[in-house]
Amino acid sequence: DPSALIGLDTARPLADPAVVLQRRDASFARVQEHYYVAPPQIERGWKHHLIDIYGQSYVDMVNNVTTVGHGHPRIAEAARSQWSLLNTNSRFHYEELVRFTERLAELAPDPLDTVFLVNSGTEAVDLALRLAFSYTGHDTVLSVREAYHGWSMAADAVSSSVADNPRALDTRPDWVHLIEAPNAVRGKYRGPHSARRYLVDLDGDLQALEDDERTVAAFIAEPVFGNAGGVLLPDGYLAGVYDRVRARGGLCIADEVQVGYARLGRYFWGTEQQNVVPDIITIAKAMGNGHPLGAVITRREVAERFADAGPFFSSAGGSPLSCRIGLTVLDIMRDEDLQSNAEIVGRHLKHGLERLGERFDLVGAVYGMGLYLGVELVSDRAKFTPATVAAARLCEELLLRGIIVQPTGDFKNVLKIKPPLCLSVASADHFLHALGEVLGE
Ligand code: PMP
Repeated sequence: DPSALIGLDTARPLADPAVVLQRRDASFARVQEHYYVAPPQIERGWKHHLIDIYGQSYVDMVNNVTTVGHGHPRIAEAARSQWSLLNTNSRFHYEELVRFTERLAELAPDPLDTVFLVNSGTEAVDLALRLAFSYTGHDTVLSVREAYHGWSMAADAVSSSVADNPRALDTRPDWVHLIEAPNAVRGKYRGPHSARRYLVDLDGDLQALEDDERTVAAFIAEPVFGNAGGVLLPDGYLAGVYDRVRARGGLCIADEVQVGYARLGRYFWGTEQQNVVPDIITIAKAMGNGHPLGAVITRREVAERFADAGPFFSSAGGSPLSCRIGLTVLDIMRDEDLQSNAEIVGRHLKHGLERLGERFDLVGAVYGMGLYLGVELVSDRAKFTPATVAAARLCEELLLRGIIVQPTGDFKNVLKIKPPLCLSVASADHFLHALGEVLGE
């Protein structure tokens, strides 16, 4: 019974750093990013807990890929039975494909009713851009500075987050145009840049779009700036940008890979928070609960224009196994009411973080909503100077207290809190208590 392991068992040894460092040198690990001096060796997961090779359990505050929690028996059972029944995708229809795409189309806002299934967020973004190119016949894409949308040539081109992808700036082709207004905000918040720069200048951005008369194929943005740590856009921001992009012939792509799928609690899609309907949604991570699965959802006419140019086929995209897992994730989300849980526990957590902000100067700002929160650590509150080293230290200390949380943002000074949607109030309190203790120290 894995639940017997839940809870911080201080009698058990922590991972031996020497062993871990030795393992970290293995060639497989070299390409991976490591946050910890000695990353824990995780052997398995259970709900919102991760358990290492020594049996030590940690609250998982980073895993937004895991929607319904780790090791869910219904997912394991669905995967096992589908695998033994059928798992090949060779241009025929199967029940799971029809049912899953129908469910996604039902979840998407009208008039988005056509679904392409792929294997990752990167593939979804790549396909979304191709749909926009073929539909509009234009070739300029507007993207927000400091965003991250994936690692393929096209997704990389519309990404400019140096922290997430240091190569991005070197490879951007001239069809990508970055909206510069967030830079204007740098003027407002002088000194080193922080996640605050994502508090975009609504008027400045809209005016810049008015002044530029080029035709546009697409505008791509996260509806909540996940890459910065969950910074909410000002009211009316996306509505204003979408209007102007459409006036220039472009399609609006909402990259919901991080913030969609009920993560924001009250809203299933991030665009609901901004009260807009995009032309194309990209989604991945959450929908497969860790299994590779992504989707593009769009209007029929956009999909048909693309299909006219030739068939779309992905050998593994939307396989029977993926669809069965995707359906089971949605069933569990409904049966366990995980969207409400994200709202309730998220609200509790945000309130607790804000209280810590009142007590500790190191906490500069708390961003986000639902179970998608960011805590920005600053060494000087007036200047908003990123406290990068403190953030790294804090995460190491939290690891010792049975919490896995990692810093994000270009200065790695924002603790991004994006646990499985089944996070309990007790574990949220464990985190808040541990964070308070470490901040105090
Ligand atoms: N879009 C956004 C907003 C993302 O955060 C990510 C990954 N972090 C991607 C796209 C790419 O998704 P994947 O890693 O599944 O390719």
